[in-house]
Amino acid sequence: MHSFTYEQPQTIEKAIGSTGRFIAGGTTLVDLMKLGVELPPAIVDVTALPLAQVEVLPNGGLRIGAMVRNSDLAHHPEVLKKYPVLSQALLSGASPQLRNMATTGGNLLQRTRCPYFRDPTSGGCNKRNPGTGCAAMEGHHRMMAVLGTSDHCIATHPSDMCVAMTALEAVIYIEGAKGKRSVAIGDFYKLPGDTPNIENVLEPGDLITHVELPPAIGSRQVYLKLRDRASYEFALASAAVVVKVDGGHIHSVRVAMGGVGTRPWRSHEAEAALTGKTANPATFKAAAEAALKNAKPHPENAFKVELARRCVSRALKMATA
Ligand code: SF4
Repeated sequence: MHSFTYEQPQTIEKAIGSTGRFIAGGTTLVDLMKLGVELPPAIVDVTALPLAQVEVLPNGGLRIGAMVRNSDLAHHPEVLKKYPVLSQALLSGASPQLRNMATTGGNLLQRTRCPYFRDPTSGGCNKRNPGTGCAAMEGHHRMMAVLGTSDHCIATHPSDMCVAMTALEAVIYIEGAKGKRSVAIGDFYKLPGDTPNIENVLEPGDLITHVELPPAIGSRQVYLKLRDRASYEFALASAAVVVKVDGGHIHSVRVAMGGVGTRPWRSHEAEAALTGKTANPATFKAAAEAALKNAKPHPENAFKVELARRCVSRALKMATA
């Protein structure tokens, strides 16, 4: 039995002054505690904090509190109207029960589903226990990443929501001991490098308070997720596309991928291959090639390279149809 202390602060100030591990919906952390992967001595329950609002910003963007539940966000009228890619991504993830519990802040901090990470008896894992190696390299790695990997970790980032937010260029707002700051989602996640246990730029005590989405007026949006079964499954490959087409030409576009990267994967290469070009299958194919040109597959997950290409190409076709 693992013992831990529990507190439920009522204000952000008290929460960031605590020294425990934050918990909200618990859909990641409770699992990992049961598995013995994470054994925090202190739990700080942030569900009483006033962070569950979705508000339209004066510039037309959206402010999403860290405690907004995934199901509430997916069905929010402003999200359905202006950010359908986010709603589609959220509804493609997990199950209704999990989405009712999971929060925006928690989803941003989802940890990998690598089976070796989640099983302390399974051998070395540099993410779970730094310096012990990576059992996935020579073991089963069908679900692992092909982009952003290192010699120390090839684990895939599991979130769908974060892929959509990457394509929407979300900004994450944080409060901590050093005050308030904001970080673009593209700068929030770290590549594994030789420290795969450090997954993002948060420092001890930092609390995500909310996320802001810039206006996405006039864009067409699609989230396409390919997986082994139609529901309650993680992506083998996914693509979020936010595109503006003018007179048959691609005026601006953002492309992000899931299921293939060690973090939610923005493809600037695909965007460069698309911008200013005619929206047609040849352009989409070239963009998909560019998106995967730096892929480094392992034997079991080599299929993901072509799957991800087709996913990007099809998502672009759907978004511009
Ligand atoms: Fe651990 Fe990463 Fe290797 Fe999985 S891929 S076993 S998370 S180091």
